[in-house]
Amino acid sequence: MNTPTETETDSLLINLTCPECGKVHDAAIVNTVCTNEDCKSTLFAQYDLSTGISKDILNGRPATMWRYKEFLPVMDQKYIVTLGEGFTPIIPIENLKSFIGDNEVFWKDESGNPTGSFKARGISAAVSKAKELGIEAIATPTAGNAGGALAAYAARAGVKAIVYMPKQTPQVFKDECRLYGAELLEVDGNISDCGKLINEHALLNGWFQVSTLKEPYRLEGKKTMGYEIAEQFNWQLPDVIFYPTGGGTGLIGIWKAFDEMEQLGWIGSKRPRMVAVQSQSCDGIVSAFNAGQRVSEFADGGFTIANGLRVPKPYADKQILKVLRESNGTALTISDAEMSQALKEIARHEGMLIAPEGAALWQAYKKLKASNWVKPGEQVLLINTGSGYKYLENIVVE
Ligand SMILES: *Cc1c(COP(=O)(O)O)cnc(C)c1O
Ligand SMILES: [Zn+2]
Repeated sequence: MNTPTETETDSLLINLTCPECGKVHDAAIVNTVCTNEDCKSTLFAQYDLSTGISKDILNGRPATMWRYKEFLPVMDQKYIVTLGEGFTPIIPIENLKSFIGDNEVFWKDESGNPTGSFKARGISAAVSKAKELGIEAIATPTAGNAGGALAAYAARAGVKAIVYMPKQTPQVFKDECRLYGAELLEVDGNISDCGKLINEHALLNGWFQVSTLKEPYRLEGKKTMGYEIAEQFNWQLPDVIFYPTGGGTGLIGIWKAFDEMEQLGWIGSKRPRMVAVQSQSCDGIVSAFNAGQRVSEFADGGFTIANGLRVPKPYADKQILKVLRESNGTALTISDAEMSQALKEIARHEGMLIAPEGAALWQAYKKLKASNWVKPGEQVLLINTGSGYKYLENIVVE
C-alpha cells in the first residue's frame, strides 16, 4: 500500500488557461476547449510552480509517469488509473554508427507502455481526471492507438469506452478495443470523418469526448515525456528532438514540460530544436511551416502505414507551429516506402521492432544530417512512439 509520507504532495493544479486569448477556466469542473466562442482553443493546465519544490521529491518514487504527480491534474490520488505507463528507457543507436558520425543518437522507446504506445500516458491522465470529475462514459475518435489505450484504461477505471476508428486500420487495433470491452464503430473514412460522426453521437448520448487536444488532460499525460527526458539526461536537454506529429500532443506537451521545469528551476533556458515529422499524405504542418503560416490547411488525409500520423488537420495546429518556430526547429515529410525500409533497418541492426511513426524519425534524422541541419557533435533524441508489433499487417516481410 501507498502510505502518505511527509514528501507526499498533491497536485499543484490551479486552473486551465487559454494560450490564445488568456481566458481562465475553473479546473474543478468538466472542461473541453476555451469557452470564448471566437476562440475554442486547446486549454493548458496551470500549476503553482513558485513553491520552490525540489527535484529531490523524485527520489525513490515509482518508475511511472505519476512520479511527477504534483504537475499532473488529479487532486486526490485515489482516482489515479494506472497500468504502469511512462518512465520508458533511453536506448542509444548502437550498430548503425556509420550513419551518425559523431552525433549521439538515442531512442526514447515508448513501445513498452501499456497497449504498446505512448497514448497510454495521455489516456491515463485523461481517464483519471474524468473519474475524479464523475464522468461515466468516455468516447474518442482514433487512428488506432488512442482507442486501444482508452479501452484498456476505461476497463481499469470501470467506465464505459466508445471508440470510432477508420475501417482501414489494421485488425489488431480493432480487436484490442473489443477485447477490453469498448464499444467500437468502424468508419469508412479517416480520423476527421470519425470525429464528425462521434461529435453527433456524443451529443445525443451524453458521452464525454477525449479527442486530441479538445480535452485538456491528455496533453498533461504526454507532457511527462518532457520531464522524463530532462531527468534521464541528467537535467541537460539534448540538442534536437524528433517527433512524429499527428495531433501534436507530445510535441506541445514536451515543450510545456520544459517551460514548467525552467519555472521550477529544475533546468536552465537551453532548449532542443524540435522537429515535426509527418507522412506524405498528411503534411499540413510541414506545408504551413514552410509557407510561414500560423495555421495549417486541411491535408489530403489518405492512407499511410503510420496510422498515428493520419491526421488531416491537427486541432492545435497553431500551438504546434509555435513550438517549431520558438525552438528554431523544422518539419519534413517521409513516405510510406521510406518508413517501411527504416523500420526494417532498425529491426535488423538495432534489435528493435519500432512503429512506422518512429521509423519515420530515423529516416528524417538521416536526411537532416545529410543536409547538415543536424550539426556534428549534436545529441539527438528520436521518440519511438509505439510498438511495431501492432502494424505487421501492413509491413511486407522479405
Ligand atoms: C498517436 C500517435 C502518434 C501521433 O501523436 P500525436 O500526439 O497525436 O501527435 C505518433 N505515433 C504513434 C504510434 C501514435 O499512436
Ligand atoms: Zn481562448
